[in-house]
Amino acid sequence: MRELVETVAAGLAAGERVTPEQAARLWREAPDEELRRLAARARARFHAPGACTYLIMRIINYTNVCVAQCDYCAFYRLPGQAGGYVLSREQVFAKIDALLALGGDLAGFNGGFNPHLPLDYYCELFAAIRARYGERLEFYALTIAEFLYLADHGKLTLAQAAERLRAAGVRWITGGGAEILTEAFRLRHSKFKYSVAAYLDAQRAVLAAGMKTTATMVIGFDETIEERIEHLERTRAFQDETGGLSSFLCWTYKPYGTAWGGAELGSAEYLRHLALCRIYLDNIPRLRASVLTQNEAALDGLLWGADDFDLPIEDEVTQSAGATINLDFDALLARARALGFAPRYRRVASAPAGAPAAV
Ligand code: SF4
Repeated sequence: MRELVETVAAGLAAGERVTPEQAARLWREAPDEELRRLAARARARFHAPGACTYLIMRIINYTNVCVAQCDYCAFYRLPGQAGGYVLSREQVFAKIDALLALGGDLAGFNGGFNPHLPLDYYCELFAAIRARYGERLEFYALTIAEFLYLADHGKLTLAQAAERLRAAGVRWITGGGAEILTEAFRLRHSKFKYSVAAYLDAQRAVLAAGMKTTATMVIGFDETIEERIEHLERTRAFQDETGGLSSFLCWTYKPYGTAWGGAELGSAEYLRHLALCRIYLDNIPRLRASVLTQNEAALDGLLWGADDFDLPIEDEVTQSAGATINLDFDALLARARALGFAPRYRRVASAPAGAPAAV
Protein backbone atom coordinates (compact mmCIF):
# COMPACT_ATOMS: atom_id res chain seq x y z
CA MET A 1 0.00 0.00 0.00
CA ARG A 2 2.80 2.45 0.92
CA GLU A 3 4.37 1.93 -2.49
CA LEU A 4 1.04 2.67 -4.19
CA VAL A 5 0.50 5.88 -2.21
CA GLU A 6 4.06 7.03 -2.95
CA THR A 7 3.65 6.23 -6.66
CA VAL A 8 0.41 8.21 -6.86
CA ALA A 9 1.90 11.09 -4.85
CA ALA A 10 4.91 11.24 -7.18
CA GLY A 11 2.58 11.05 -10.17
CA LEU A 12 0.48 13.94 -8.88
CA ALA A 13 3.64 16.01 -8.42
CA ALA A 14 4.71 15.19 -11.98
CA GLY A 15 1.27 15.94 -13.45
CA GLU A 16 0.53 12.31 -14.26
CA ARG A 17 -2.91 10.80 -14.22
CA VAL A 18 -4.24 8.20 -11.87
CA THR A 19 -5.32 5.07 -13.74
CA PRO A 20 -8.59 3.23 -13.05
CA GLU A 21 -6.60 0.36 -11.55
CA GLN A 22 -4.70 2.68 -9.21
CA ALA A 23 -7.97 4.36 -8.20
CA ALA A 24 -9.56 1.00 -7.33
CA ARG A 25 -6.54 0.02 -5.25
CA LEU A 26 -6.47 3.37 -3.49
CA TRP A 27 -10.13 2.93 -2.63
CA ARG A 28 -9.63 -0.54 -1.25
CA GLU A 29 -6.25 -0.20 0.42
CA ALA A 30 -5.40 3.40 1.32
CA PRO A 31 -6.15 4.42 4.92
CA ASP A 32 -8.31 7.51 5.34
CA GLU A 33 -5.45 9.80 6.27
CA GLU A 34 -3.33 8.80 3.26
CA LEU A 35 -6.26 9.28 0.88
CA ARG A 36 -7.08 12.64 2.42
CA ARG A 37 -3.47 13.81 2.09
CA LEU A 38 -3.33 12.80 -1.56
CA ALA A 39 -6.56 14.70 -2.21
CA ALA A 40 -5.18 17.78 -0.44
CA ARG A 41 -2.13 17.66 -2.74
CA ALA A 42 -4.36 17.34 -5.80
CA ARG A 43 -6.50 20.23 -4.54
CA ALA A 44 -3.43 22.39 -4.12
CA ARG A 45 -2.84 22.25 -7.88
CA PHE A 46 -5.85 24.56 -8.28
CA HIS A 47 -6.57 26.26 -4.96
CA ALA A 48 -4.62 27.95 -2.21
CA PRO A 49 -4.83 26.26 1.20
CA GLY A 50 -7.74 27.74 3.12
CA ALA A 51 -9.47 29.07 0.00
CA CYS A 52 -13.01 27.95 -0.71
CA THR A 53 -16.21 29.33 -2.16
CA TYR A 54 -19.93 28.84 -1.54
CA LEU A 55 -23.25 30.03 -2.84
CA ILE A 56 -26.83 30.27 -1.60
CA MET A 57 -29.28 28.61 -3.95
CA ARG A 58 -32.53 26.73 -4.23
CA ILE A 59 -33.79 24.00 -6.46
CA ILE A 60 -37.22 24.79 -7.87
CA ASN A 61 -39.04 21.53 -8.48
CA TYR A 62 -41.56 22.86 -10.98
CA THR A 63 -43.35 19.55 -11.46
CA ASN A 64 -43.22 16.14 -9.81
CA VAL A 65 -45.10 14.40 -12.62
CA CYS A 66 -42.73 11.94 -14.24
CA VAL A 67 -42.83 8.86 -16.41
CA ALA A 68 -39.27 7.68 -15.74
CA GLN A 69 -40.10 5.64 -12.63
CA CYS A 70 -36.58 5.53 -11.20
CA ASP A 71 -36.72 3.12 -8.29
CA TYR A 72 -34.48 5.37 -6.18
CA CYS A 73 -36.86 8.36 -6.38
CA ALA A 74 -39.46 9.23 -3.71
CA PHE A 75 -40.44 12.49 -5.41
CA TYR A 76 -42.34 11.61 -8.54
CA ARG A 77 -46.01 10.94 -9.29
CA LEU A 78 -47.18 9.27 -12.47
CA PRO A 79 -49.40 11.29 -14.83
CA GLY A 80 -52.93 11.31 -13.39
CA GLN A 81 -51.78 10.09 -9.96
CA ALA A 82 -52.93 11.95 -6.83
CA GLY A 83 -50.39 14.45 -5.54
CA GLY A 84 -48.99 15.38 -8.94
CA TYR A 85 -48.46 19.10 -9.47
CA VAL A 86 -47.09 21.77 -11.81
CA LEU A 87 -46.07 25.06 -10.20
CA SER A 88 -47.73 28.22 -11.48
CA ARG A 89 -45.56 31.04 -12.69
CA GLU A 90 -46.52 33.04 -9.57
CA GLN A 91 -45.35 30.18 -7.36
CA VAL A 92 -42.04 30.07 -9.21
CA PHE A 93 -41.61 33.84 -8.85
CA ALA A 94 -42.42 33.64 -5.12
CA LYS A 95 -39.71 31.01 -4.63
CA ILE A 96 -37.19 33.16 -6.49
CA ASP A 97 -38.16 36.24 -4.48
CA ALA A 98 -37.60 34.32 -1.25
CA LEU A 99 -34.19 33.16 -2.49
CA LEU A 100 -33.11 36.70 -3.36
CA ALA A 101 -34.31 37.91 0.05
CA LEU A 102 -31.96 35.40 1.71
CA GLY A 103 -29.02 36.66 -0.34
CA GLY A 104 -28.98 33.85 -2.88
CA ASP A 105 -28.64 34.33 -6.62
CA LEU A 106 -28.91 30.87 -8.21
CA ALA A 107 -32.03 28.82 -8.87
CA GLY A 108 -31.83 25.36 -10.33
CA PHE A 109 -34.89 23.94 -12.08
CA ASN A 110 -35.43 20.25 -11.64
CA GLY A 111 -38.67 18.36 -12.20
CA GLY A 112 -39.91 15.17 -13.78
CA PHE A 113 -40.38 13.91 -17.29
CA ASN A 114 -43.87 15.40 -17.54
CA PRO A 115 -45.56 14.45 -20.82
CA HIS A 116 -48.10 17.29 -20.42
CA LEU A 117 -45.49 20.06 -20.58
CA PRO A 118 -44.36 21.01 -24.08
CA LEU A 119 -41.10 22.80 -24.83
CA ASP A 120 -43.05 26.07 -25.13
CA TYR A 121 -43.94 25.85 -21.43
CA TYR A 122 -40.25 25.90 -20.53
CA CYS A 123 -39.23 28.54 -23.05
CA GLU A 124 -42.00 30.88 -21.90
CA LEU A 125 -41.19 30.31 -18.22
CA PHE A 126 -37.47 30.89 -18.64
CA ALA A 127 -37.97 33.96 -20.83
CA ALA A 128 -40.34 35.39 -18.20
CA ILE A 129 -37.77 34.79 -15.46
CA ARG A 130 -35.02 36.46 -17.45
CA ALA A 131 -37.30 39.44 -18.17
CA ARG A 132 -38.39 39.79 -14.54
CA TYR A 133 -35.08 39.30 -12.77
CA GLY A 134 -32.52 40.33 -15.37
CA GLU A 135 -28.98 39.86 -14.10
CA ARG A 136 -29.97 39.69 -10.42
CA LEU A 137 -30.55 35.97 -10.73
CA GLU A 138 -28.90 33.15 -12.63
CA PHE A 139 -30.65 29.88 -13.15
CA TYR A 140 -29.77 26.36 -14.10
CA ALA A 141 -32.63 25.53 -16.42
CA LEU A 142 -33.26 21.82 -16.17
CA THR A 143 -30.91 18.90 -16.01
CA ILE A 144 -29.39 17.05 -18.94
CA ALA A 145 -31.89 14.24 -18.29
CA GLU A 146 -34.90 16.56 -18.57
CA PHE A 147 -33.41 18.25 -21.62
CA LEU A 148 -33.16 14.87 -23.32
CA TYR A 149 -36.78 14.14 -22.52
CA LEU A 150 -37.93 17.54 -23.81
CA ALA A 151 -36.17 17.05 -27.12
CA ASP A 152 -37.39 13.50 -27.43
CA HIS A 153 -40.97 14.28 -26.45
CA GLY A 154 -41.07 17.34 -28.73
CA LYS A 155 -39.59 15.34 -31.62
CA LEU A 156 -36.75 17.81 -31.97
CA THR A 157 -33.08 17.18 -32.48
CA LEU A 158 -30.90 17.95 -29.50
CA ALA A 159 -29.46 20.90 -31.42
CA GLN A 160 -32.95 22.27 -32.13
CA ALA A 161 -34.08 21.93 -28.52
CA ALA A 162 -30.86 23.51 -27.24
CA GLU A 163 -31.24 26.44 -29.59
CA ARG A 164 -34.86 27.02 -28.53
CA LEU A 165 -33.85 27.13 -24.86
CA ARG A 166 -30.84 29.32 -25.50
CA ALA A 167 -33.02 31.77 -27.43
CA ALA A 168 -35.37 31.88 -24.41
CA GLY A 169 -32.53 33.17 -22.25
CA VAL A 170 -31.16 29.90 -20.88
CA ARG A 171 -27.42 29.88 -20.16
CA TRP A 172 -26.99 26.76 -18.07
CA ILE A 173 -28.28 23.20 -18.20
CA THR A 174 -26.73 21.18 -15.39
CA GLY A 175 -25.37 17.68 -15.57
CA GLY A 176 -28.12 16.36 -13.26
CA GLY A 177 -29.58 12.95 -14.03
CA ALA A 178 -26.16 11.37 -14.42
CA GLU A 179 -26.36 9.39 -11.18
CA ILE A 180 -23.91 6.63 -12.14
CA LEU A 181 -22.83 6.77 -15.78
CA THR A 182 -22.81 3.09 -16.62
CA GLU A 183 -25.36 1.33 -18.81
CA ALA A 184 -25.77 -1.47 -16.30
CA PHE A 185 -26.68 0.96 -13.51
CA ARG A 186 -29.25 2.73 -15.66
CA LEU A 187 -30.90 -0.51 -16.70
CA ARG A 188 -31.02 -1.72 -13.11
CA HIS A 189 -32.79 1.33 -11.73
CA SER A 190 -34.95 3.12 -14.27
CA LYS A 191 -37.55 2.20 -16.84
CA PHE A 192 -36.78 5.28 -18.89
CA LYS A 193 -33.55 7.03 -18.19
CA TYR A 194 -31.39 7.70 -21.16
CA SER A 195 -28.27 5.76 -22.05
CA VAL A 196 -24.82 7.03 -21.19
CA ALA A 197 -24.18 7.80 -24.86
CA ALA A 198 -27.43 9.78 -25.13
CA TYR A 199 -26.60 11.67 -21.93
CA LEU A 200 -23.18 12.69 -23.23
CA ASP A 201 -24.57 13.61 -26.66
CA ALA A 202 -27.06 15.92 -24.94
CA GLN A 203 -24.27 17.53 -22.98
CA ARG A 204 -22.33 18.07 -26.22
CA ALA A 205 -25.42 19.69 -27.79
CA VAL A 206 -25.78 22.06 -24.84
CA LEU A 207 -22.16 23.15 -25.19
CA ALA A 208 -22.40 23.42 -28.97
CA ALA A 209 -25.36 25.80 -28.56
CA GLY A 210 -23.18 28.08 -26.44
CA MET A 211 -24.66 27.18 -23.05
CA LYS A 212 -22.76 25.93 -20.02
CA THR A 213 -23.00 22.69 -18.12
CA THR A 214 -21.66 20.86 -15.10
CA ALA A 215 -20.86 17.30 -14.09
CA THR A 216 -22.69 15.45 -11.32
CA MET A 217 -22.64 12.06 -9.67
CA VAL A 218 -24.73 10.33 -7.02
CA ILE A 219 -23.34 7.48 -4.94
CA GLY A 220 -24.74 5.16 -2.32
CA PHE A 221 -27.06 2.91 -4.34
CA ASP A 222 -25.74 -0.55 -5.19
CA GLU A 223 -22.99 0.60 -7.53
CA THR A 224 -19.63 -1.10 -7.37
CA ILE A 225 -16.33 0.73 -7.00
CA GLU A 226 -15.63 -0.20 -10.62
CA GLU A 227 -18.85 1.56 -11.66
CA ARG A 228 -17.89 4.65 -9.68
CA ILE A 229 -14.52 4.73 -11.37
CA GLU A 230 -16.10 4.19 -14.79
CA HIS A 231 -18.21 7.28 -14.07
CA LEU A 232 -15.10 9.27 -13.16
CA GLU A 233 -13.28 8.01 -16.24
CA ARG A 234 -16.14 9.05 -18.55
CA THR A 235 -16.27 12.45 -16.87
CA ARG A 236 -12.52 13.01 -17.21
CA ALA A 237 -12.58 11.92 -20.85
CA PHE A 238 -15.54 14.20 -21.60
CA GLN A 239 -13.70 17.11 -20.08
CA ASP A 240 -10.62 16.27 -22.16
CA GLU A 241 -12.82 16.33 -25.24
CA THR A 242 -14.87 19.46 -24.54
CA GLY A 243 -13.40 21.45 -21.66
CA GLY A 244 -17.01 22.39 -20.96
CA LEU A 245 -17.62 21.05 -17.44
CA SER A 246 -17.65 24.02 -15.07
CA SER A 247 -17.70 21.95 -11.91
CA PHE A 248 -18.18 18.48 -10.47
CA LEU A 249 -20.72 17.86 -7.72
CA CYS A 250 -21.21 14.51 -6.01
CA TRP A 251 -24.02 13.87 -3.56
CA THR A 252 -25.37 10.82 -1.79
CA TYR A 253 -28.53 8.83 -2.39
CA LYS A 254 -31.26 9.25 0.21
CA PRO A 255 -33.18 5.97 0.56
CA TYR A 256 -36.22 6.93 2.67
CA GLY A 257 -39.57 6.37 0.97
CA THR A 258 -38.08 5.10 -2.26
CA ALA A 259 -39.10 1.86 -3.97
CA TRP A 260 -35.54 0.62 -3.97
CA GLY A 261 -34.81 1.46 -0.34
CA GLY A 262 -31.42 0.46 0.98
CA ALA A 263 -29.31 2.00 3.72
CA GLU A 264 -28.03 5.56 3.77
CA LEU A 265 -24.35 6.04 2.98
CA GLY A 266 -22.49 7.76 5.79
CA SER A 267 -20.15 10.70 5.69
CA ALA A 268 -16.97 8.61 6.14
CA GLU A 269 -17.49 6.89 2.80
CA TYR A 270 -18.64 10.12 1.16
CA LEU A 271 -15.45 11.89 2.22
CA ARG A 272 -13.27 9.06 0.92
CA HIS A 273 -15.13 9.25 -2.36
CA LEU A 274 -14.67 13.02 -2.59
CA ALA A 275 -10.95 12.47 -2.16
CA LEU A 276 -10.93 9.90 -4.95
CA CYS A 277 -12.82 12.33 -7.21
CA ARG A 278 -10.28 15.06 -6.58
CA ILE A 279 -7.35 12.73 -7.24
CA TYR A 280 -8.93 11.32 -10.42
CA LEU A 281 -10.44 14.45 -11.98
CA ASP A 282 -7.29 16.35 -12.77
CA ASN A 283 -9.02 18.53 -15.34
CA ILE A 284 -11.97 19.93 -13.33
CA PRO A 285 -10.74 22.56 -10.84
CA ARG A 286 -14.06 23.10 -9.04
CA LEU A 287 -15.09 20.15 -6.87
CA ARG A 288 -18.28 20.79 -4.89
CA ALA A 289 -19.35 19.14 -1.66
CA SER A 290 -23.03 18.41 -0.98
CA VAL A 291 -24.40 20.16 2.09
CA LEU A 292 -27.86 19.14 0.87
CA THR A 293 -27.29 15.44 1.47
CA GLN A 294 -24.42 15.43 3.98
CA ASN A 295 -25.28 18.53 6.05
CA GLU A 296 -22.41 19.86 8.15
CA ALA A 297 -20.23 16.85 7.41
CA ALA A 298 -20.01 18.05 3.80
CA LEU A 299 -17.85 20.92 5.01
CA ASP A 300 -15.24 18.41 6.16
CA GLY A 301 -15.07 17.69 2.43
CA LEU A 302 -12.96 20.85 2.14
CA LEU A 303 -10.22 18.82 3.82
CA TRP A 304 -10.83 15.95 1.42
CA GLY A 305 -10.41 17.78 -1.88
CA ALA A 306 -13.53 19.92 -2.26
CA ASP A 307 -13.22 23.68 -2.74
CA ASP A 308 -16.85 24.77 -3.11
CA PHE A 309 -20.25 24.10 -1.56
CA ASP A 310 -23.88 25.19 -1.86
CA LEU A 311 -26.07 26.38 0.96
CA PRO A 312 -29.40 25.16 -0.43
CA ILE A 313 -32.76 26.34 0.86
CA GLU A 314 -34.89 23.77 -0.96
CA ASP A 315 -34.80 20.64 -3.05
CA GLU A 316 -37.94 18.55 -2.88
CA VAL A 317 -36.40 15.60 -4.72
CA THR A 318 -33.86 14.83 -2.01
CA GLN A 319 -36.07 16.16 0.79
CA SER A 320 -38.77 13.65 -0.25
CA ALA A 321 -36.23 10.91 0.37
CA GLY A 322 -34.96 12.21 3.71
CA ALA A 323 -32.65 15.19 3.09
CA THR A 324 -32.96 17.99 5.65
CA ILE A 325 -32.30 21.67 5.04
CA ASN A 326 -30.28 23.78 7.47
CA LEU A 327 -30.95 27.49 7.08
CA ASP A 328 -28.48 28.44 9.79
CA PHE A 329 -25.93 29.66 7.26
CA ASP A 330 -23.84 31.35 9.96
CA ALA A 331 -23.32 28.03 11.74
CA LEU A 332 -22.39 26.28 8.50
CA LEU A 333 -19.93 28.98 7.53
CA ALA A 334 -18.51 28.97 11.07
CA ARG A 335 -17.80 25.27 10.71
CA ALA A 336 -15.89 25.90 7.47
CA ARG A 337 -13.88 28.61 9.24
CA ALA A 338 -13.19 26.36 12.20
CA LEU A 339 -11.68 23.89 9.76
CA GLY A 340 -9.25 26.56 8.61
CA PHE A 341 -11.05 27.87 5.53
CA ALA A 342 -12.10 31.36 4.54
CA PRO A 343 -15.36 30.89 2.61
CA ARG A 344 -15.99 33.50 -0.09
CA TYR A 345 -19.39 33.96 -1.70
CA ARG A 346 -19.24 32.88 -5.34
CA ARG A 347 -21.82 35.00 -7.08
CA VAL A 348 -23.23 33.40 -10.23
CA ALA A 349 -25.56 36.22 -11.33
CA SER A 350 -23.91 39.19 -13.03
CA ALA A 351 -25.56 42.01 -11.08
CA PRO A 352 -24.30 42.77 -7.55
CA ALA A 353 -26.42 41.60 -4.61
CA GLY A 354 -29.28 43.98 -3.85
CA ALA A 355 -29.37 45.45 -7.37
CA PRO A 356 -32.79 46.83 -8.31
CA ALA A 357 -35.24 44.70 -10.30
CA ALA A 358 -35.05 44.85 -14.08
CA VAL A 359 -38.79 45.59 -14.38
S1 SF4 B 1 -35.24 10.82 -10.41
FE1 SF4 B 1 -36.06 12.36 -11.84
S2 SF4 B 1 -36.38 11.19 -13.74
FE2 SF4 B 1 -36.23 9.65 -12.06
S3 SF4 B 1 -38.38 9.34 -11.38
FE3 SF4 B 1 -37.52 10.95 -10.08
S4 SF4 B 1 -38.15 12.87 -11.08
FE4 SF4 B 1 -38.35 11.22 -12.61
